[in-house]
Order: sequence, then C-alpha cells, then structure tokens
Amino acid sequence: MPTPTPPPSATETPAKPGLHPRNRHRHGYDFAALAAADAELAGKLRPGPDGAPGIDYADPEAVRALNRALLAVDYGIAGWSLPAGALCPPVPGRADLIHHLADLLAEENGGTVPRGPQVRALDIGTGASLIYPLLGLAEYGWQFVGTDVDGAAISAATRLLAGNPEAAAAIVVRRQVAARHILTGILRGGEHFDVTLCNPPFYDSPAAAAAASGRKWRQLGKPPAGGGAPRNFGGSDGELWCPGGERAFVSQLIEESARIRRRCLWFSSLVSRAEHLRPLEAALAAQHPCATRVIEMRQGQKQSRLLAWTFLSRAERRQWRERRWRAGDAG
Ligand code: SAH
Repeated sequence: MPTPTPPPSATETPAKPGLHPRNRHRHGYDFAALAAADAELAGKLRPGPDGAPGIDYADPEAVRALNRALLAVDYGIAGWSLPAGALCPPVPGRADLIHHLADLLAEENGGTVPRGPQVRALDIGTGASLIYPLLGLAEYGWQFVGTDVDGAAISAATRLLAGNPEAAAAIVVRRQVAARHILTGILRGGEHFDVTLCNPPFYDSPAAAAAASGRKWRQLGKPPAGGGAPRNFGGSDGELWCPGGERAFVSQLIEESARIRRRCLWFSSLVSRAEHLRPLEAALAAQHPCATRVIEMRQGQKQSRLLAWTFLSRAERRQWRERRWRAGDAG
C-alpha cells in the first residue's frame, strides 16, 4: 500500500522491529546526524515525550525534509526533492523491499547478491520520488527503468534525475501511455530484466483513498482544515487508486507477465492486503509459473508481503545467471 503507516507518536521514531537485517534503519533514525546534514530538518526538530529529538509527522515539510536527509546521509543521494502533493514514501519500508529482492536474486547466484549495472530492474509505478530505483542503485548498483502512467510523476522524476548525474546514468523513466496496461508497451525490442517490482495503487476509488487519508491524518491528531484530503502522506489520488484496487492491478500484472515470460527472471509485486494473497496466487497458478515465493515483510505494526514468480525453470535460471551476471562484476 503506497501510504506509510504513521508512527505511534507524532514526535518520535521507535526502532523498527522486523526490518531486513541489511536495512540501515533497523535501529531507528539518528536525528542529530540527519539534522546536521539538512538545515530545514534541523529547523523542524522538536523533542519527543522522552526528550529525544524527532519531528511532527503531521507536518508534510518536516516529513519531506526527513526523507531528503535520510537519502543524503544514509544513501549518498544528494538533492532529492518532491513536488508538493506527491506521495512521500517512508524510506525504511521501501529499502526493505529492495533487500528482499536482493536475497531473491542471490538465490540464483550461489547466495551472493548480484551487484552492479548488469542487474536490470523494472519498477512499475515508480512515482515522482523514484524511491525504489534510487535505493536499489545506492545499495546494489543496479540499473533501473521506472514506469508510471502519471505525467506529473514522470516530469518530477525526470527533473530529479536531471539534478543527479550519477542517478541519471543508471535510471531511466518511461511513461506508460495506455493506463489499462502495465507491462505491455514498456519493454524495448530484445530488452530483458532481472527483476520487476511494484508498489501497486491500493484503493479501488478516489473516495476510498481520500477517506483513508483522512483516517491517517486523524490518527496523527490533526484533522485537515477545510475537510480536504490531506496530502502529506497520501499522495495525489492517481497514485493511490485504480479500478479494482490492488487485487485487480496485480492480477493484470500477472496476466501481462505471462506474455513476456522469458524476458524477466523474477516478477514481483507488493501485496498489502493479506486477503488478496489467495486469489492472486490462484491467478498466478493459472499462468503456470515455474516457482512462486511469498516473502513476509514487517515494518513496525505494518505487515506486508512480496509476491514473486518466475516462468524460468531452475536450469534456465542458472543459464540466465551465467549469461547475464557472470560476464561482468555482478556477484
Ligand atoms: N513506487 C512509489 C509510488 C507507488 S504509488 C512508491 O512506492 O512510493 C503507485 C504508482 O503507480 C503511482 O505513481 C501511479 O501513478 C502508478 N500507476 C498506476 N497505474 C499504473 C500503470 N498502469 N503503469 C505504471 N504505473 C502506474
């Protein structure tokens, strides 16, 4: 689900139980170090109930400044920015998905995470933040193609890359012009990917998205003035919903993946709702994958899961690795 779960208090970030062992945020945030790197964040710091520094998570500018500082300090990504109103992704959970995907690819590589630009990932619905490509590049040196249907998200992501030459050398964005499609029309002739990932639109209507945004806002103790849907966590409506919601989106992804079954090693998607898993596994079984995985992920109180599938046999996966990762520095 694209919206982050607000922390239990408005001013402090607890340690994050359940994060991946390689996640840099397993022990919470070092606000002093982060504030030293970002003047705006420094101005937003305030003591929590125990006196430790934190931010007000109901303040969108503070949340954006925190993300900017985290990306700069922990990942070496300078100059991250996000247009007002765009989805502001919580970094720890997004990093977790990257690490779990790295483990999945490591299975094919003798237990070692394949690193470097030989590894090509396709991030479906990358958003204005480009969060997964930036984290995947910073952690493992992977290359990314990020797609989105939203023209504003693509423009913002393009601006982000224009200000960051290192990222621009490894990440490209492509607009999906047919909103009813996901993979169709995205791959270029002869193009292959080692992994696809997706944080799908979650809600099935703009009203459901707005209502949930309002609930989150109230959990933070600050109902939005004027009754409008708050935007600091929620993102614009298009980011949060699609016809049929998460289940329909991932079903469609599964169906389209079967049409390009030999062009990707592992396909994957986040599945936020536990009850969507069964029907999605059934949809997957109908396409006869060679292997599927359900990887449980936990961020604080929020449980999520990664559904992954491949249409390549074990022998074909070994050949894939020999052909694509052995040639250079991957692994
Ligand atoms: N990856 C970002 C944004 C996730 S929100 C993050 O994790 O924070 C889901 C995104 O999917 C939105 O940006 C939305 O515009 C995009 N989207 C919706 N339908 C799509 C489609 N058919 N193809 C590609 N992206 C799509």
